[in-house]
Amino acid sequence: MQRLQGIAVSPGVAIGEALVMDSEGFRIPRRFVARDAVDDELERLSKAIDAAAAEIQNNREAVEKELGGQYAAIFDAHRQMLTDPKLRSELESLIRDRHYSPEYAVSRALRRYAKVFQELPGGTFAERASDIYDIEKRLLRNLLGRRREGLSRLTSPAVILAHDLTPSETANLDRNFVRGFVTEVGGPGSHTAIVAEGMEIPAVVGVGSFLTDVSGGDLIIIDGHQGVVILQPDEETVARYRHEADQQRTLAARLETLRDLPAQTADGVRVDLYGNIEFPYEVDHCVERGADGIGLYRTEFLYLSTDSEPTEETHFEAYSRVVRSMGDRPVVIRTLDLGADKLAQIPSPAEERNPVLGLRSIRMSLRNVPLFRTQLRAILRASALGNVRIMFPLITTLLELRQARMIVADVMEDLEEHKVALNRQLPVGMMVEVPAAVMMIDRFVEEVDFVSIGTNDLIQYSLAVDRGNKDVAGLYNSCDPAVLRLIELTIQATKRANVPTNLCGRMSSSTAYTQLLLGMGLRQFSVTPGAIPEVKRIIRAVSLPLCEAIASRVMGMENARDIKAFLREELKKVAPEMEQR
Ligand code: PEP
Ligand code: MG
Repeated sequence: MQRLQGIAVSPGVAIGEALVMDSEGFRIPRRFVARDAVDDELERLSKAIDAAAAEIQNNREAVEKELGGQYAAIFDAHRQMLTDPKLRSELESLIRDRHYSPEYAVSRALRRYAKVFQELPGGTFAERASDIYDIEKRLLRNLLGRRREGLSRLTSPAVILAHDLTPSETANLDRNFVRGFVTEVGGPGSHTAIVAEGMEIPAVVGVGSFLTDVSGGDLIIIDGHQGVVILQPDEETVARYRHEADQQRTLAARLETLRDLPAQTADGVRVDLYGNIEFPYEVDHCVERGADGIGLYRTEFLYLSTDSEPTEETHFEAYSRVVRSMGDRPVVIRTLDLGADKLAQIPSPAEERNPVLGLRSIRMSLRNVPLFRTQLRAILRASALGNVRIMFPLITTLLELRQARMIVADVMEDLEEHKVALNRQLPVGMMVEVPAAVMMIDRFVEEVDFVSIGTNDLIQYSLAVDRGNKDVAGLYNSCDPAVLRLIELTIQATKRANVPTNLCGRMSSSTAYTQLLLGMGLRQFSVTPGAIPEVKRIIRAVSLPLCEAIASRVMGMENARDIKAFLREELKKVAPEMEQR
């Protein structure tokens, strides 16, 4: 049994057989081979080495012809490493003596070498390490040959273990079979994490290197509350987690009774509790849980399901499905927030060194007006079907907001000229997720109908911490006093101007922050659908004076650790049965 600690990104317990993916996203088969298969496996290894060496030779010749001998030299180094007799005898002994499968032996041995180079001081040999990974991949490709399978065509339940999963790979996971997933990399605010939450499967990311310690078919437990992964658990541990999963089901069933009750504090203050969605089907999860509306529809995820640019009709179909399901409840459609880690399919103009500070989100929409107009036409058409609101992401300057609004007005005019039905009065709002927007909030509120605080990015940009990087995950803190001040400034300024404020970052889904945010004056929460019952349970259990006292205590504190500990205690007082999310 081995216990690993990672970052909890999607709650729940999953117990199941491991399906291990290599760094290129292909399944690595079981670790061990049968005793009587050893000779065949040695033969397979030998063939794979020969084939890989021949490939390298071919590449060498092609590059020499194109670019000359000096560029071809790198291939000589690769071939030398690959055919090194010491490496070969090590691999053979792993197969013969330990009965490792050739794939497992190759991964194990080469990654160990790569690690040695990686860890040498000064980083001088880091490139050597990537050469070794390259050889590993080449050998695996040859070993797995046509047996290479991706994540499609799963036929039985599995827990996915991978180095990384892109948001689109995550979005395409088969929910009928995937019980949960664990990745070596990834941070707390990554979009892969957001998709996992939306799909409601337990997930842990940023565990660090562990894939060589597991084999396909091993039993795995994922604890998506605590960020814990247990490899080859003993019986007692399995029993304990099965019991915990049962308890969670009981709690969820109990919370279902809140479905039709309003999100209202014990002393009668009504709060709007909305759902965040990425895919149209999630609207059903919101309806089932009695959401007051959709507070954030992340429309860029439309791009994850297709290889080509979505047409106006594709946009419209998705929006109308959501709007119709919500009846007269509000649906906030956020315009495309493409870029950074969501960009994958869209060709970027040039290699970006700093994608989160680059051409993403509203900046990309304003640079690519035809793309923006296509989406706006679809949103405006959908506005005739229900209570649609439009929201711009990553607004940093007033000029950006004005430009975006001008384009909306222009598209409206266009549609009206063609007698297309739409709601002329549709509210237009913006995300507040860049510190610059907070500093200028008193001006922004004069030009928008509502705002929504995006803490996922606000934390990243105010604390200078990459939301997708596990190595700085400990610095990515919702309850950092600087972040809390930015939120408070926003809530106060919008209140003065009578502009409704929502909070749609992941922070609002965590019951640890519900009392604090209420006390700070927040009256609209937009949360991942799975969190609606729990957040509602807290809202209904507390009274405003208590929340205000908590907020006032917290705003006087100096560091995130103390604030977190204090909030955990306060949560325990109102909901002892509820684990912090
Ligand atoms: C945010 O930044 O808090 C947010 C809600 O948007 P996203 O997570 O899609 O960047
Ligand atoms: Mg954001």
